[in-house]
Amino acid sequence: MTWSHWQVPPFVTGVFFILGVLTLYWVTYNWLVSWVHQRRFKVTDDVVNTWYGVIYMLVFVFSIQTLVTGTSMSWQFMNFQLIAVIFCAYFLNIHVSYYFFLPIVLIYMLFNGSIYYWQSWAHALTLMTFFWVLNETRVKCHSHRDSLLLYLLVTIPFGGLLWFWMKLKFNFSWAVFGEEWLYLVIFEVLLYLYVTMLAHDSELKVRLARFASHDALTQTKNFAAYTDAMDDYFHRSRADDQPLSMMMFDIDHFKQFNDTYGHSVGDLVLREVATTVQTVLDANDLPATFYRTGGEEFNVLFPGTEVAATKPVVDQIFAAINHLEIQADDHKFNVTISVGVSAVVRDDRSPLDFYNRVDRNLYHSKRHGRMQITVA
Ligand code: GH3
Ligand code: MG
Ligand code: MG
Repeated sequence: MTWSHWQVPPFVTGVFFILGVLTLYWVTYNWLVSWVHQRRFKVTDDVVNTWYGVIYMLVFVFSIQTLVTGTSMSWQFMNFQLIAVIFCAYFLNIHVSYYFFLPIVLIYMLFNGSIYYWQSWAHALTLMTFFWVLNETRVKCHSHRDSLLLYLLVTIPFGGLLWFWMKLKFNFSWAVFGEEWLYLVIFEVLLYLYVTMLAHDSELKVRLARFASHDALTQTKNFAAYTDAMDDYFHRSRADDQPLSMMMFDIDHFKQFNDTYGHSVGDLVLREVATTVQTVLDANDLPATFYRTGGEEFNVLFPGTEVAATKPVVDQIFAAINHLEIQADDHKFNVTISVGVSAVVRDDRSPLDFYNRVDRNLYHSKRHGRMQITVA
């Protein structure tokens, strides 16, 4: 075997080609998403997925078609193109409305010189229906136990019909029709298995990342996430001359809950307090992030917000927790918190200077009878 003469059947090369195209998509998509996160662009992963997926696959479909356009075998790469369509519609679950789809298909038919063939129109309509059915199958049946079977029940007949239109147009033999359809089915199965394996790996990565930045007991962000965010917010506040405020609070006499009712009741108190704070923050429009920074100590960061503007939210959190009634076994009891609030000032040379001032305010609240807010 030499470089110019590979003893490998085209089908095998095709398998590796299509897996390569998908892998390249996956790697570049992940790179793009982390770049978008790093730059803190206000774009969701879903938007990146849709736009990047559509553009990548269109470039792929059109560029391989340029190699065969105008020849009598211009159907040669159809299986690769169908796999790209299935990947977008089913695995990326990209929804493309007909008013985007139709122009794309028309441009493709013009590009491919097939606009005057009725078979190509039948093919285009089948393809649009196929895309829509794949979207629906994904949404309704992906978590189903037999999702592979359902996927094949959709992709096999549609693949056959799409090849049937091409057989009528190009008049190739039934043997070629059968062979291409069979290759398509094999590609579809491989695609399913390969993407499922990749998705499993990336879900694991997402779970690990969440585990590293969140507190397992309360599901709020943890101390590591707090230090990361604080560093970033502090330096941006300095650079852009934007305000940054912080509310820090500590549950009063928390040790008594543990000592009186047991550690699991203490855990329950922490969970209930965290849920209450998150509910108040979700109901307000102020940008805020919530962290559990110590045992029974929590922080809320308000980037871009002056202390005065945080007051209504701080007061709501304070009141909501003080009114919280915790029920554990046969006991009902209340929780109170002591709070410290402050904002970054010019003299703060590091996030620690800022943190220490908020901490001093919190301990001022503790020393002066607890259950109060100190702002300075
Ligand atoms: P103060 O009003 O001065 O804040 O008094 P306190 O009792 O709240 O504070 P102290 O620092 O004396 O006690 C905090 C306790 O919180 C001690 C520790 O055992 C408990 N604790 C820390 N983390 C957890 C946890 O995850 N679960 C439970 N149940 N208890 C915890
Ligand atoms: Mg405490
Ligand atoms: Mg404490």
